[in-house]
Amino acid sequence: MLNDVIALDKKYYMNTFGDRLPVCFEKGEGMKLYADNGDVYYDFLGGIAVNAVGHCHPYFVSSLKSQLDKMIHTSSLYYIENQAKLAQRLVESTCADKAFFCNSGAEANEGAFKLARMYFYKKGIDKSEIISLDHSFHGRTIATVAATGQEHYQAPYRPFTNGFKQIAPNSFEAVEKAVTDKTAAIIVELIQGESGVKPMDAEYARKLREFCNEHQILLIVDEVQTGMGRTGRLFAHELYGIEPDIFTCAKALGGGVPIGAVCAKAEVAAAFEPGDHGTTFGGNPLATAAGLAVFDILEKEGLVENSEKMGELFRKKLKAVQEKYPEKITEVRGAGLLIGIEVKPEIASTVFKKLHEKKMLTSLCKGLTIRLAPALSITEQEIDIFIKALNEVMEEI
Ligand SMILES: *Cc1c(COP(=O)(O)O)cnc(C)c1O
Repeated sequence: MLNDVIALDKKYYMNTFGDRLPVCFEKGEGMKLYADNGDVYYDFLGGIAVNAVGHCHPYFVSSLKSQLDKMIHTSSLYYIENQAKLAQRLVESTCADKAFFCNSGAEANEGAFKLARMYFYKKGIDKSEIISLDHSFHGRTIATVAATGQEHYQAPYRPFTNGFKQIAPNSFEAVEKAVTDKTAAIIVELIQGESGVKPMDAEYARKLREFCNEHQILLIVDEVQTGMGRTGRLFAHELYGIEPDIFTCAKALGGGVPIGAVCAKAEVAAAFEPGDHGTTFGGNPLATAAGLAVFDILEKEGLVENSEKMGELFRKKLKAVQEKYPEKITEVRGAGLLIGIEVKPEIASTVFKKLHEKKMLTSLCKGLTIRLAPALSITEQEIDIFIKALNEVMEEI
């Protein structure tokens, strides 16, 4: 089957992903994915931090099935029970007062930019600039590419919508230099995921929060990758002890069903009035049933706590491997179950390929860092499976 799928893909699918890894999965269960040829893989990437509750969690599947039997979609013209309840879950468990649902991370960030601009527009204050950080990743739409601080994503797509600029991360001097009286918002990832699991300095994050308060600038935290328990807290801003004015969420929120969210403090959220923003699919009955089921599972199974505990254990075991091979592994970093293993650039792609051959699914960021984002329900035995494979790979190269 794999070869047939490859042939169809090459013929009919736009070539945005190039030569993918030569595997086609048929079904999943927990941390495992089964390929069409019977090979069993361990999913340490979790669909890039999406499958927080693992594959086909029985409660998740039955929640979706029972929603499918009732209805999939109605319209934002009507009240939606699951949507209201998922907004309640997000608000009651975070510093936000209101939520809005959309379909992806990029769309959530777009919503955050619009909300920030609308907030100042309604106040009659001329502020529209949005500052983001170098090496950031905020999505693939034009405005989110304009905010994504990576030249190779930006170059082909100029001109952008106006009012976006990037600065070096962790430099407060850069913030002071870049901010003008037109600056509406600063958007950051507290751990930069795509560029290799790079945590922000805690001191810088705190100063940024204070600076934004003093200068009437909104602080937006992009929690698309770090949210929903990934870092050992429900959201990474809890780890940093700061409260954003707006934060966005997507990847794990629907456990694999597309949904994103813009969450904001009451005063900021109030800037959106009827007609100011909208969506066809966002927060429909099926997507919000998925979000509710994810919240239920995180709570019932203590998965946020498990993420903290197993994340710590995982990093400890990875650091022990690093100590054995210091000339090959340069750093182990991250928080909770968002983990980066930085290896020497000369061997990075070989390490990644060999892990894949050993049926360990990971991703390679910036040709340097092996990224792990497994299900938050991971056990010590499953961690040990990866550690064993990594030891073997280190031995072989
Ligand atoms: C994945 C990601 C996005 C984009 O999300 P999509 O659902 O692919 O649009 C935005 N920000 C961060 C931090 C991400 O990791």
